[in-house]
Amino acid sequence: MQNPVFYNTLGRRPARLETEVAGEVRMYTCGPTVYNTAHIGNLRTFLFEDVLRRSLQFLGWRVVQVMNLTDVDDKTIEGAANAGVSLGEFTRPFIDSFFADLDRLHIQRVEHYPRATEHIDEMLALVEQLVEKGYAYESDGSVFFRIGRDEDYGKLSGFDLSQVRQGERVASDDYDKEDVRDFVLWKGAKEGEPAWDSPWGPGRPGWHLECSAMGMKYLGESFDIHCGGVDNIFPHHENEIAQSESATGKRFVRTWIHAEHLIVDGEKMSKSLGNFYTLQDLVDRGADLRALRYQLLSVHYRKKLNFTFEGLADAGAALKRLDEMRFRLLDAAEGESESDSPIGPACERLLKDFGDALADDLNTSEALAALFGFVREVNQAVDGQRLAVGDRQRVLDSLDRVDEVLGVLNADEWRQAEEGGLSDEEIDRLLVERREARQARDFGRADEIRGQLTEQGIVLEDTPTGTRWKRQ
Ligand code: AMP
Ligand code: ZN
Repeated sequence: MQNPVFYNTLGRRPARLETEVAGEVRMYTCGPTVYNTAHIGNLRTFLFEDVLRRSLQFLGWRVVQVMNLTDVDDKTIEGAANAGVSLGEFTRPFIDSFFADLDRLHIQRVEHYPRATEHIDEMLALVEQLVEKGYAYESDGSVFFRIGRDEDYGKLSGFDLSQVRQGERVASDDYDKEDVRDFVLWKGAKEGEPAWDSPWGPGRPGWHLECSAMGMKYLGESFDIHCGGVDNIFPHHENEIAQSESATGKRFVRTWIHAEHLIVDGEKMSKSLGNFYTLQDLVDRGADLRALRYQLLSVHYRKKLNFTFEGLADAGAALKRLDEMRFRLLDAAEGESESDSPIGPACERLLKDFGDALADDLNTSEALAALFGFVREVNQAVDGQRLAVGDRQRVLDSLDRVDEVLGVLNADEWRQAEEGGLSDEEIDRLLVERREARQARDFGRADEIRGQLTEQGIVLEDTPTGTRWKRQ
């Protein structure tokens, strides 16, 4: 197991990873607000988190990861009201498109995807704890966090509270606070809004509260890594720390990791500039999503990523070089002896340099440089007819190993995934086959089918009246 160094936003310096439990990383990643389809900026952040997860696994760690779905907040409520549908009806298609986007970019599923609307009890318990301890107060059906009580508020973002004078209006909202700097934990319901019962009357949770409550529920009061985009540092993550640490008296998170934003053609994405892309927009323009994954992961996460179509074409060209090396390798003859083959040492060097680069604050561009150095060596060995017995497999195994992190080297897998998500009919047919296999006590085949369906994001539920399925 290798112990990586990450740049910790808390303290603003690189620090070696330390975890609560030996060998295990518990990690919380802020998920989407499901009021629209994700844009490629959001997806950059989610892809960075996927590469982080896979890198930790590559380095020998067990990962337990949570990504929340914010399915109640001002934007989802407003969207549902404008569409004239319930909150659940409004958010469902965006939840579906979020998971579909993850699949299309080959982002691994994490262990938990909790939804805010399913954790209201945990959120209320946290607010009650804060009220009891004097860190929060009720005002007109809402509950606010009393920032003046929290001495180290600002430690993550460097936000200086003394710069904001009491009585000054910093944010527009209609609630009555003791101090303008205070932030809302629980919002009293306005006429016609979705609401849950609480000791302070009907209302709904504030956004910051959602992540604190769900993080602590699934990962414990103290956990290892918390990620998001740089825009989450303030106020979202600052407020998460304030709420959680005031309630528990414990350190909430050791390592905070934030990804820089994606911009398009050097500018911030915006609808009016016409540079606002969803994944489907890029596909409609003929983009290869495998190249997009490569492009997004090739830039270090703490640098701004400038998305351009030329950059996407360059990523496609880099993949082509990797594909060609594989074809040439498969065609090449292996010699008899192992004596002077350069391949064994080259494989070892690749895996070491690749791991070292990832362990160095997730330096993906260095990791790719190691891969391309390896490609050059393999090409030279093939040209010089220096392959020894077993070398071909050695190279393929090493590529598979680095692809556990990159997820871009297997062109066939991408082609199959693009062409063939399972249709409803195919799922039904597989379920019939699974039933028959079980009746024939062929549990191996039955499990295989379940595995195949799970891989495609299809969840099975065995009920007394038969097996039901749904797409996750
Ligand atoms: P949201 O759905 O708005 O809550 O955002 C989901 C995630 O996307 C958050 O972690 C944001 O930090 C991140 N994000 C938003 N805009 C960008 C962008 N332009 N580039 C990269 N990440 C972004
Ligand atoms: Zn969050």
